[in-house]
Amino acid sequence: MTSLNVLVAVCLSYVVLLFGVAFAADRLASAGRSTWLRSPLVYTLSLSIYCTAWTFYGAVGYAARSGLEFVTIYLGPTLVMIGWWWGLRKLVRVGRSQRVTSIADLISSRYGKSNTLAVCVTILAVIGVTPYIALQLQSITLSFTIFAETDPAGSYVEGSSAFWVAAGLAVFAILFGTRNLDANERHHGVVTAVAIEAVVKLIALLAVGVFVVWGIAGGVFDTLQRIDASEIGVWQVDHGRWATITFLAAAAFVCLPRMFQVMVVENDDERHLRTAAWAFPLYLMLMSLFVVPIAVVGLEILPEGSNPDLFVLTVPLAQGQEMLAMLSFLGGFSSATSMVIVAAMALSTMVSNHIVMPIWLNAKGGGASVSGDVRSVVLYARRVSIAAVLALGYFYYRLSGGGAALASIGLIAFAGIAQILPALVGGLFWRGATRTGALVGLTVGFVLWLFTLLLPGMGAGVLAPSVIEQGLWGLSWLRPQALFGIEGLDPMVHSVMWSLSLNSAAFCIASLLSFPSPLERLQGAQFVNVFDHSAGPRGWSGSVAQSEDLMIMSQRIMGAREAQEFFQAEAKAQGSRAYFPEPTPAFLERLERELSGSVGAATAHAMIGQIVGGSSVSVEDLLAVADESAQLLEYSSRLEAKSAELSRTAHKLRDANEKLTQISLQKDAFLSQISHELRTPMTSIRAFSEILRDTDGLEVAEKTRYAAIIHDEAMRLTRLLNDLLDLSVLENGQVSLNVTEGMLVDVIDRASSTALTGSINPLKLRRNRATERIAIRTDLDRLTQVFINLIANAQKYCEAHEPTLSISVHDVGGQVVVDFVDNGNGIPPHSQKMVFEKFARVSAEKAGGAGLGLAICREIMQRLGGNVTYLPGQEGGAFRVSLPLGLEIAAQ
Ligand code: ADP
Repeated sequence: MTSLNVLVAVCLSYVVLLFGVAFAADRLASAGRSTWLRSPLVYTLSLSIYCTAWTFYGAVGYAARSGLEFVTIYLGPTLVMIGWWWGLRKLVRVGRSQRVTSIADLISSRYGKSNTLAVCVTILAVIGVTPYIALQLQSITLSFTIFAETDPAGSYVEGSSAFWVAAGLAVFAILFGTRNLDANERHHGVVTAVAIEAVVKLIALLAVGVFVVWGIAGGVFDTLQRIDASEIGVWQVDHGRWATITFLAAAAFVCLPRMFQVMVVENDDERHLRTAAWAFPLYLMLMSLFVVPIAVVGLEILPEGSNPDLFVLTVPLAQGQEMLAMLSFLGGFSSATSMVIVAAMALSTMVSNHIVMPIWLNAKGGGASVSGDVRSVVLYARRVSIAAVLALGYFYYRLSGGGAALASIGLIAFAGIAQILPALVGGLFWRGATRTGALVGLTVGFVLWLFTLLLPGMGAGVLAPSVIEQGLWGLSWLRPQALFGIEGLDPMVHSVMWSLSLNSAAFCIASLLSFPSPLERLQGAQFVNVFDHSAGPRGWSGSVAQSEDLMIMSQRIMGAREAQEFFQAEAKAQGSRAYFPEPTPAFLERLERELSGSVGAATAHAMIGQIVGGSSVSVEDLLAVADESAQLLEYSSRLEAKSAELSRTAHKLRDANEKLTQISLQKDAFLSQISHELRTPMTSIRAFSEILRDTDGLEVAEKTRYAAIIHDEAMRLTRLLNDLLDLSVLENGQVSLNVTEGMLVDVIDRASSTALTGSINPLKLRRNRATERIAIRTDLDRLTQVFINLIANAQKYCEAHEPTLSISVHDVGGQVVVDFVDNGNGIPPHSQKMVFEKFARVSAEKAGGAGLGLAICREIMQRLGGNVTYLPGQEGGAFRVSLPLGLEIAAQ
């Protein structure tokens, strides 16, 4: 007899081997050299977690008890694989394009990212799967006890093995299921370990089968005869049960969280389904090939009352085939562990994503903007969830006492999980399906399943016998096993019929009656028409050609040199001598991170997804991209505004600078002008005063003449200084105006008499005094000063034979103007503007003016709010004084 210690040692070595395989596979995958890990064979084998210990051991027990009905458990998935591969393909495509992490995530995302739905599915899954995990723990414990029967340590084993197994599985699942938060949620290590276990359990079952047929029964022919002789061989078909269980197995194959995990989430390439479509049914066929022979022979050779669920172990043991029994034990162990690990991983993803994280984020008050923070919380939540799921399974096992009630739990769990089917299939194929519909359907199905199957199945302690016999609240149509008065049906058929049909009906009716939100509509369209939107069956497994495309795109975003350096560094890190790195997931992830620095995370993801084709762009992606673009647009428009402002400021600065330069030049010119203007009279004054001082005997007449010259020059100097002072006061704005009312005619009178007094050849004035009778309100003295200047200029510069100045008053566009037009030569056009500048003189030195008169006039008129301009096109010199608007009171 194999000692328990040897068994434990074998078990531990097997587990260490699995750890090693998982570890190596993870390493290979992260190094990007995981081609064989992504083969269709591994994918097909990973699907075999459908065959749990319940199928490994239980199928034989099932056959021993109920004959050929066990076939239905294999028939369901086979029919799905062969007859519904197109539906699976759609499921896988949707899962990939929406980056779905679990079946709860898929349902929630189809119905407008509804977390309520996700929570419902998660709860349903936890309730449905926990007993199933307990079942696996029970099977491992039972198989241990078979070996331990003769071992003194046996009693110890029964109590503690379930606990240690649960703890060990939790560690495995945590180690390999939550190593990192891969965006694709793929776990190469776990999948590879599961594939190995699939091979072990197949070989184990086949080995036991071969031994039974050829070692015990004496060949195929004899075996068939024995089968014919036994009750199992009797073809007894309960059509209702057959159809129901086949359907349930099919539904569970699609909806079970662990199946969804390996089939959709872990799928690397849609094309793998093509291989799996025939290879997986083949695997199932091989698994079921020897079930009947083992059952028949077991019933024959083992003493009555032996547990048929353990024939796979006890038959070889009874024949003294300890090595074979050991292999068979490992097969059962593999079936149980792989199921538990994947189920715990799948459930933990759902629990942490849809229950723990929302609660945590809520508690944090939306302060989860730091992504690193969230990542570690997610990982932590996953780990805790895995431990919690396994603890739940363990406690369920302890509480249920591991009895026969557990053995029937497999189908009950199937029926519970199948409640997801209407919402899932409806969501994939019917655009009209709504969130409300899915919620109502799920709730109806869940409640009915609970009431008609789970609770009655849990024994009398849970549901009072009176309820089962007389119905809820004494209503006979509410009897759990005879709902609405339909009696005589098998409880399983009864429950599945009512729960699924009412679930589907509620789902359809509520969908038709409710209105989907916009996001729901969009997601619905994405799901139903997934083949129109998403890329073909190319995975992240890209080709070098894709690397080139990625390079071209990256160059545009990062800049040519940076992109080339990044790609070269990556190629080098991969140990490749090629210019382009292999587009491994690790590389793509780094590239995405690199690009997201420039264009935002969502855009980077969408762009890479477009090229690599691993995922199509989801509505959320698009919304996020739109958000980012809006932000970028806003940012760039702000930049544009800023740069416009800057260029305006620069323009102003340039203008100011030019002005300053001009002013500085003007100042220089002004100073040299002034010194020139001052020096001329000063020179005369000095010269004549020296003559007066130094020359003796000058005649009186000469003395008088010289003194007169000195006097005139001094007067000129005084005038010049007065003008300069006046101008500087006006220019600095220090002048204070003395505004009074008066008549324009008086101002002109005063100006002309002042200007013309004492002149030898007085200018002839031509006026129309009637038009000049306008009352005005301004600084009359200053206005007079302007007029004096203009009249004096005409006097000085008009070279006509009979100099005449006509002064006329007009109304130009509502403004009073006074024109001074003489009959002289006027001012040549190119100098007309210039004469208003300081020291500007056209007829050089004539009459001794310093060229300040018109400059002063302009300053005064500007101060008064009016203007003085040259009036071109007249017969002689012509100036126009525009009186300030509104200063005249009324014409009289
Ligand atoms: P100034 O104080 O030397 O008279 P203004 O600034 O009054 O200087 O005039 C500038 C120049 O404009 C004069 O030097 C003269 O050449 C020209 N000018 C002014 N008024 C007349 C006019 N009515 N006819 C011809 N030239 C004129």
